[in-house]
Amino acid sequence: LVSAPTLERDLATLAGFSAPGPGVTRLAWSPELLAGYDWLAGRLRALGLDVEIDPAGNLVARWDAGNGPAVVVGSHLDTVPRGGRFDGALGVLAGMHALRMLRERGVEPARPLWLVAFMDEEGTRFGTSLLGSRAFAGEPVADLAGRADGDGVTVADAMRAAGFDPARLGEARAIDRVGAYVELHVEQGPALERAGADVGVVEAICGMVGLRATLLGEANHAGTTPMDLRRDALAAAARAVLAVRETALEAPGVVATAGTLDVHAGAYNVVPGAVELSIDLRAPRAGALAAAEEALRARMAAIAAEENVECVLDERHRLAPVPMDAALREHLRAAAAQEDATALELASGAGHDAMVIGRHVPAGMLFAPSRDGLSHNPGEHTSAALCETAARVLARALERIGGTR
Ligand SMILES: [Zn+2]
Repeated sequence: LVSAPTLERDLATLAGFSAPGPGVTRLAWSPELLAGYDWLAGRLRALGLDVEIDPAGNLVARWDAGNGPAVVVGSHLDTVPRGGRFDGALGVLAGMHALRMLRERGVEPARPLWLVAFMDEEGTRFGTSLLGSRAFAGEPVADLAGRADGDGVTVADAMRAAGFDPARLGEARAIDRVGAYVELHVEQGPALERAGADVGVVEAICGMVGLRATLLGEANHAGTTPMDLRRDALAAAARAVLAVRETALEAPGVVATAGTLDVHAGAYNVVPGAVELSIDLRAPRAGALAAAEEALRARMAAIAAEENVECVLDERHRLAPVPMDAALREHLRAAAAQEDATALELASGAGHDAMVIGRHVPAGMLFAPSRDGLSHNPGEHTSAALCETAARVLARALERIGGTR
């Protein structure tokens, strides 16, 4: 008698579907990802589920139980280059094991239960993150097909090579048949490990504001321009970088990062005339995000005035925070209690498919701890015991949310 593969074994098997090199590399639309889909589809069909790959490359498995809108559990199977074996994969595979547990317990759900692996959550290759969940949710994605990677290959090209028709992307819309969404994901941060919690219940997925700051001074000779007459854009930018950090330090729950710095002219003997820097601001609540942005803008203006440079802030992206549904959070907390798992409530600083789906239907997220808070790294790790606990909590949550007949 051969026992059924454990979640740990399945995580190891899936990690084998990878491009060569360290860690796991399973980019959107790649042969490695599609091979992983084939393996997973076989496992899901063996559980008695209907499996299809939709026109946006999402793998959708359906347990057509009960009636009414479906309860969807999901995450993604694509990875960043040289990523780990848990980001995304844990949510999908634990979702499969949760459905298996419900079937083994003889649970007859009152509503359909679907498992979805969303295409291109990471967006590393084309800058098209969350493409699959956006298409599934019916958000406009047709214009993304024209995006090209560094080699000039477009999303449409990659889709065709993988056997998909880019013109049919819009047909992936299925949100109208969905009533609730639950996603398990690794935390990708240190909070759960630090607190010694078994699982995390996400309160909200942080909103994000991306700004490109351009500081314009005057390029001049580094030897002949007196210090009091300089309009040094880099000196101003140095203060701006610290202002970004101070803004976050003063506002609980807010994180802010100055991530890039481009200096012009960029020479030993030239007073810098122009500097561009990127600013990433995140917060779990809209009010806190707006207040932090306002405070940062005021600081930047004051620095520009004092340094006698011009400061222009261009908005690069803006995403509102997505609060997780209160009833689903309660179900997740209760499910953790049923499994004797300690749970911590926390915000997600990273974006997830739940952020997209949660704009349309009630969504909830469960986190599993990440060892040393490490992610997007081959060293990413969550112990087999913690993965198993998270899968059990997920199964209880699905049972509670889906109801029983
Ligand atoms: Zn992920």
